[in-house]
Amino acid sequence: MNSPKIEKSFSETTIDKIFTTVLKEFLPSFELRKQQLIMANKIYQSFFENRKIIIEAPTGVGKSLGYIIPSLVYIFEKNEDVRVIISTFTKTLQQQLIKKDLPLANDISKKIFNKEIKYMCFYGSENYICLNKFFEFKKDLLTTEELIKIMQIEEWLSYTQTGCVEEIDVDSQIWQEVNREVDLCRGKHCKFYEQCFYYKNVKELKNVDVVVINHHLFFANILYSGKLIPKSGKEAEDIVIFDEAHNLEDVILQWLGAEVSNTQIKFLCNQIFNPKKQRGLITKLSSLSENTKENIKSSVLNLVASCGQFFSELQAKFPQEKKEIRIFTPYLVEDVLTPHLGELLNLLRSARNQLSTDEEFFKLNAFIKRIVTFIGVITLWLKCEDTKNYIYWLEKEETKRKQIKINLKITPLEAVSEMQQKVYSLYEKIVFTSATLSVHNSFEFFKKLVGLIPKFLPYCVDNIEEVILDSPFDFENNVLLYLPKDTPNPKEEYENYKEAINEVITNLINLTNGNTFVLFTSYELMRWVYENINTNFEILVQTEGKYRLIEKYKSIKNSVLFGVDTFWQGVDIPGEKLISIIIPKLPFDVPEHPIIEAKTEKIKLEGKDPFREYLLPNAIIKLKQGFGRLVRRKTDWGIISILDPRITTRWYGKYFLSSLPKCKVTTDFDTVVKFFKNKKTQQ
Ligand code: SF4
Repeated sequence: MNSPKIEKSFSETTIDKIFTTVLKEFLPSFELRKQQLIMANKIYQSFFENRKIIIEAPTGVGKSLGYIIPSLVYIFEKNEDVRVIISTFTKTLQQQLIKKDLPLANDISKKIFNKEIKYMCFYGSENYICLNKFFEFKKDLLTTEELIKIMQIEEWLSYTQTGCVEEIDVDSQIWQEVNREVDLCRGKHCKFYEQCFYYKNVKELKNVDVVVINHHLFFANILYSGKLIPKSGKEAEDIVIFDEAHNLEDVILQWLGAEVSNTQIKFLCNQIFNPKKQRGLITKLSSLSENTKENIKSSVLNLVASCGQFFSELQAKFPQEKKEIRIFTPYLVEDVLTPHLGELLNLLRSARNQLSTDEEFFKLNAFIKRIVTFIGVITLWLKCEDTKNYIYWLEKEETKRKQIKINLKITPLEAVSEMQQKVYSLYEKIVFTSATLSVHNSFEFFKKLVGLIPKFLPYCVDNIEEVILDSPFDFENNVLLYLPKDTPNPKEEYENYKEAINEVITNLINLTNGNTFVLFTSYELMRWVYENINTNFEILVQTEGKYRLIEKYKSIKNSVLFGVDTFWQGVDIPGEKLISIIIPKLPFDVPEHPIIEAKTEKIKLEGKDPFREYLLPNAIIKLKQGFGRLVRRKTDWGIISILDPRITTRWYGKYFLSSLPKCKVTTDFDTVVKFFKNKKTQQ
């Protein structure tokens, strides 16, 4: 029986035309990929039918154009009554969208619709310079080093159009002195309002068709009731596209929680009065009496001392090597901190009576509010009362200046109801996309994390389309998956396992002449292998910032990179520079991490198996991300080695394997050598 012929709408025909003919005119290297066309049409239909859509688009599909082109067509079909918000997780993707994909979309728009599309990147407000703070800072007694840096900023101010820190390489401590702080900004009452870069960007934002932001700003905006991303000036409907959507839950939980650290408290103290530099807020409040100033100064010094004592006592409670510690005991240490914060708060409150200008009052009030927030968070953290819904924990990390930052954190256990109440009720059309959203061909895990499940979303469950696209790459011929046999189980024979993987990693690196990423799941194992490996190729270890290390890796011939966490995703190194990915251990989350521990407990209480419900799907998504680093272009090839024997010996191994792209598998190193040599000779 012939199926009825379905007529395509004008817009769908336009989308087809752009992909089949127009793109090639502007991008001669463009090749039509059926998956990209399917993606574009599915997304267009979801806009047209007011649906949410989850779409997994593996590397190579060209997902950015896959969502930008239908957005473009929809914007013009709706006579520009639509604004598209693209939210990403990484800066790399933001830059790619702004510098490459959106300019291309604009060229297409001019040709097809005879109109330009307006687009821009918008950052969190702390990324913009505050002219008021800048000129105030210039008046301070500056060190020579600070003076030089300020002159560099001044030079940049003479030509910058955006005032955004993205454009300038500036020391973070200096930037903190001159950037916009929401609570210190007087908006229309500021004397620099007309020239203010932040507000220029805000005004522009009201007229654009497409705005690129990051997930952090998206959720900050939700939390601040839409005050951070102003509504479109044309009253246009906002459509949201979450790219790199697999990171959404982490960001949401972060925004729904609260935290305060020793470095934040010290920074606050320095902002009020910095004894070393003899400057700060109180030196600028000219109407304060000398007596009040002296009292505030000594209160700040007391607070710094009590902060040191409080955080040292906390640190002493826990073993040095543990970085994240869950807290169950109320008032684990004596609260010597909030009384001093309270004392400073009272002094600042009564100092308000002496102020003579609105501006001074506004500034002092901002600091009062900050102290109130700090007292609130520290008190809640110390009480740790609501353990049913929140995780109370502590995180230690070393700062760039080699100081120990101790963060007191409160994280909600889940974000589903917030997502439903504050996101899904606000935006009808939402695209969730990423190369890694499905587990074993299903989006159930992702949907549960972000609250897209019937239990939480009864009214629009039929309104979510789900699409898993296949990869346009030839993994069968270009990738060999190596699963060495006889490697000891890391859970049962850890010492033997370490020795065994060290040998395999050495052999693989020597075979491929470096050009390898080794993706670890723990710093401890990474350091051990680094110290024990026997190879002449240069090994870069994750000790510094991700982007700097990647640049180094690219610039050093035959280098090897040892990375944890962030290197599993958002790294794009095509070609021969990366032909081997080694994964020593299956990327299960550390069960003792406070968030993981609390989540697994909750699942157990619900009578379910946390391993199947949470740990396994999470690990599968992470493995897919690591795997995805290898083949970035059609011509790329290489070897993926997973050295954890559990992938073949345990019941769950098949779930990992079935979630990866189909490729040839071997357990034999000689086959790996042959594959490598064959590929090399074919080049
Ligand atoms: S308007 Fe706000 S951000 Fe802009 S210069 Fe003034 S205080 Fe700074």
